[in-house]
Amino acid sequence: MEIIERIKEMKTFSSKARQEGKTIAFVPTMGFFHEGHLNLMREGRKRCDLVIVSLFVNPTQFGPSEDFQKYPRNFERDRKMAEEVGVDLLFAPLSKEMYPPDHQTVVRIEKVTRGLCGRSRPTHFQGVATVVTMLFNIVMPHIAIFGEKDFQQLATIRQMVKDLHMDVEIIGMPTVREADGLAMSSRNIYLRPEERQAALSLHRSLNRAEQLLQKGERKAEKILKEMEGIVLSEPLVKIDYVQVCNPTTLEDLIEIEGDVVIALAAYVGKTRLIDNLIYRSC
Ligand code: AMP
Repeated sequence: MEIIERIKEMKTFSSKARQEGKTIAFVPTMGFFHEGHLNLMREGRKRCDLVIVSLFVNPTQFGPSEDFQKYPRNFERDRKMAEEVGVDLLFAPLSKEMYPPDHQTVVRIEKVTRGLCGRSRPTHFQGVATVVTMLFNIVMPHIAIFGEKDFQQLATIRQMVKDLHMDVEIIGMPTVREADGLAMSSRNIYLRPEERQAALSLHRSLNRAEQLLQKGERKAEKILKEMEGIVLSEPLVKIDYVQVCNPTTLEDLIEIEGDVVIALAAYVGKTRLIDNLIYRSC
């Protein structure tokens, strides 16, 4: 597996691969890999000639009081894991090259970033969209693979690619969970054992929502009430939001018709976790 740090070198690699007629699958990450990340890489392996993974803890998507400094990092571990799943190239750009001192361009997506996580993280999606645009321009992939766990991020990237007529196909992959249902996340490492246990209430509440939908419940309020009851029964968990939304626009739904995403964010101790259920009507 090749490792590239410099932007110019990365562009040269991708241009040459494209000239040779090779297809490129791209998986952008912030590292500290788990099965959720590896599953995206495996999908890339199935679909394209080359799999490129970026590893960059992007400072502009963290708010001032968020965990940028202490975000878990372990390059050597990540390198081995990526190599084992057959990644061709790990791109680990330098912050000073991505954001030189005179950097002043941002990409802002409007409606789809306003609600859900956008409410408590007002600059987060601008940071994500900006870095993903830069990475697309540098890596020049044919397809880019994202996880449905970060559902609003996926919806934002899809909207951006459509609005800006970007020449890359976006693939969403299902959330990978621990055996007990907790959605895998690099941030799970922050959880103390009692918090790890309490965090299971998020998945439990989504399971209950799914059960209600299967039984034919179509009133968002009824579903939300039951979910909140389950999450709030854990004193260590504080809800940021639980919402029933249209999966494309992310607008709140009162009465459910067709496909729906039920998304939630909660603090478990000091750790903010997100999860969701995508329910398709057929
Ligand atoms: P991150 O390193 O957290 O920025 O995540 C990199 C990519 O992995 C994003 O597209 C995430 O949505 C995806 N991802 C993170 N956790 C999971 C998971 N549990 N299941 C599926 N995809 C995930």
